[in-house]
Amino acid sequence: MNRRSSIHLLSMASLGLALPLKRAFSAFNIPDMTLQNSPFYHFTVGTFKATIIADGQALFPAYPLYAVNASKEVVESALYQHFLPTDNYLLQCNCLYLENSQERILIDTGAGNTLGDGFGNLPQNLKKLGISKAQITAILLTHCHLDHIGGLMVNGQKAFPNATIYLSEQEWKFWSAQEIDLSSMPIEASFRKNFKDTANKNLQPLKKQIQTFKFGEEILSGIQTVKAIGHSPGHTCFLIGRGNDLLMHTGDIFHHPAFDLAHPNWTTAFDQDAQQAYKTRIKLLDMVATERIRVMSYHTPFPALGHLKKKENFYKWVAAPWRIE
Ligand SMILES: [Zn+2]
Repeated sequence: MNRRSSIHLLSMASLGLALPLKRAFSAFNIPDMTLQNSPFYHFTVGTFKATIIADGQALFPAYPLYAVNASKEVVESALYQHFLPTDNYLLQCNCLYLENSQERILIDTGAGNTLGDGFGNLPQNLKKLGISKAQITAILLTHCHLDHIGGLMVNGQKAFPNATIYLSEQEWKFWSAQEIDLSSMPIEASFRKNFKDTANKNLQPLKKQIQTFKFGEEILSGIQTVKAIGHSPGHTCFLIGRGNDLLMHTGDIFHHPAFDLAHPNWTTAFDQDAQQAYKTRIKLLDMVATERIRVMSYHTPFPALGHLKKKENFYKWVAAPWRIE
């Protein structure tokens, strides 16, 4: 019984009215609240019909992974200010699907089985949408961290056998090297190994499908690559659309409104070059805020679509209005 109904019953009792002996309804119209909400969000940009598809979510310690250069108290305060639990941080991964008369495109492929049970839902969600993985013509990778490429291979098989896989020259060079140097990431050795193993297992078997690009190239009609290095050596943002109908897929240049938007100088444990990641964040966030460009961000709470408003020295997330048709 909630507070309002208990107050209602109390007032009925104080008036001497008979209390109902039984609940009037034996079933509720709203389904079991433990059921998931939809993992899809549809919109349009340029010539594309677009859908944000959730790959999954899980709780991670809020500190220090997402603010290595802040104190625990300040991180907890930032979460509190955003009305969030202060002990854990809900990390989400959201993939962007685009289709027009020529292409069926996915930007990033989810975490696969690299981050535990909460993730790796992209394949089943594509199926729910009626999209077969063989129909995907292009995979665009923002970068090669495990939570973005974990879905490229499933049980040793190519998940998207007919897709050309696009990534920047710099990203391919770094992750296809004999020695992948992740010493700048302040994470446990086993986690670093997971990053390296995922790159080896998910990129090497797909060599023939991989096509590299230079920053600034328009790799597919209406999709331009934007240099956004720092989080990884070849991290890329994708500017989608034409004219005023634009969307910037910002990948991991920021993660969450409570963290690196409210505190752009905070760096995550996954920023491979923290100083460069900060410079890139400021430069591109200033650009999308000033130009009023719509943004989709991989880890921002679903559906991760909105605009940025620049305040003195931070950014405010303005979620896009939810479309119901
Ligand atoms: Zn990521």
